[in-house]
Amino acid sequence: MITALLALLAGLAIGWLARPRRAVPDGEIADAVGPHLLPDPALEWLRASLGAMAVWAVEAERGDLPREVTRRLSSPPPASDDLFAAEVRLDQARSDERPVVERLEAGVLVVRSVSGFATAALMPPGTPSHAVARLEDELDRLLEGLRRRPRVTALAPADARDASIESIESVGRQLALLLEKLTGADVIVAVRIRDELVITGLAGEADDRLLGTVAPADSPLATMLRAGGSFEETDEPPLGAASGDRRRSLGPAILIPMETSGERVGVVAIWPSGRQNFPHQIQQRVRDLIRRAAPHAWRAREYRLREEEATRDRLTGLANRRALEGAMHRVGLLRGAYVLADVDRFKVLNDTLGHSAGDAALLHVAALLKRQLRGRDLAARIGGEEFVLWLPDVSYDEALAVAERVRDALETSEWRWKGTPWLLTASFGVAQWPETSRHVDNLFAQADASLYDAKRRGRNRVTGSRTEPIHH
Ligand code: GH3
Ligand code: MG
Ligand code: MG
Repeated sequence: MITALLALLAGLAIGWLARPRRAVPDGEIADAVGPHLLPDPALEWLRASLGAMAVWAVEAERGDLPREVTRRLSSPPPASDDLFAAEVRLDQARSDERPVVERLEAGVLVVRSVSGFATAALMPPGTPSHAVARLEDELDRLLEGLRRRPRVTALAPADARDASIESIESVGRQLALLLEKLTGADVIVAVRIRDELVITGLAGEADDRLLGTVAPADSPLATMLRAGGSFEETDEPPLGAASGDRRRSLGPAILIPMETSGERVGVVAIWPSGRQNFPHQIQQRVRDLIRRAAPHAWRAREYRLREEEATRDRLTGLANRRALEGAMHRVGLLRGAYVLADVDRFKVLNDTLGHSAGDAALLHVAALLKRQLRGRDLAARIGGEEFVLWLPDVSYDEALAVAERVRDALETSEWRWKGTPWLLTASFGVAQWPETSRHVDNLFAQADASLYDAKRRGRNRVTGSRTEPIHH
């Protein structure tokens, strides 16, 4: 059945790819290419029918819709260095609007491009020229369809992770590896995320533990991000003297900013071991690689931020309601406990100490909840001073114990505002699926009713949704 379906799809794809070309006036959509077929699944069909290692469809910015890149890879995929090198060339060809047929180390890269749109394929080395000619024709058709596709959705929803969007780590790693290959030097790639400079790529004698850490604000790396400069030498370790990085002994490092359209996205540090200076030609190529990588880093960073915004609570950084619901409806779950917590007499705290004190107290509660989590547990803030612990695969009795532990931890946590101690407590309602509720969707209502009970009975207590033990 599946095979038959695949054969049918492949037939359709080949039929479409082989159809005679027809000019389509601007603003109209060729009826042979349903817009919903582009760039996917047409892109994957094209890749499979050509035996390409990678294919790309790049859609230009439109209004405030950003540029969108869709990429499909063979399985197993080509090496990430090869992909990165191909994408650097693709970017270049796109901005130059020049067709490209180029034999790279990894294979034959073919790019077609017009007004910010591009289609491209990476073919295995030794692909004969008649096959390249056919490919050029097909990329042209895809390009035409792509240009006429109305774009209705600005961005992929954050929860539908698009495999074609690179992660910030993969961009950092690839850039670090390419720079290492080019210069033989050790490399740190750091990208600005919100107000922090986060290390996203390392190469050479790298200490992997640095990955994901934040460059200290007074380190040369962070200083360059703020203060500017380009291609500067520093005798200090780029991450500052306090960093345990043993590369400090390797001598002076070179710091290079990563910039795209006037924005400083990050900073790269390179240690040219043994050599004091790169020859001018290498310097140029280093700059060029970094310049080419910058838009990739920028895109990955924007995607990460949007994704975080869509799933995280701004104040506490905990999951938001949407992320909580996602976790509760994950496939394969068989049971889970829902612990609803509401801070007691929070209005009094706000009215007495002020709103900033209120926010600080919420951060205190959030940090405490985070410390109580294990494994797949999730802590969420779903309202002003309302929090939820979602505990997958935890029984009702275990959940009651967790809630009681958290209640006790909060009561004894000694929170202070400007030196003045303030007793923070919370009330808890506990429900469990399937022990107290037959449906996941009822957990909130049930826990909320129990929470109300806990408040009524004096606050700072845990109330379960099952008061009588169930006898089987
Ligand atoms: P109870 O013990 O019955 O829960 O009493 P309460 O005062 O905590 O309950 P109520 O729901 O009446 O008040 C919640 C207050 O929380 C109202 C609002 O002033 C405050 N609040 C809600 N969101 C925030 C926030 O993000 N920051 C701060 N500082 N206060 C908030
Ligand atoms: Mg409340
Ligand atoms: Mg409250």
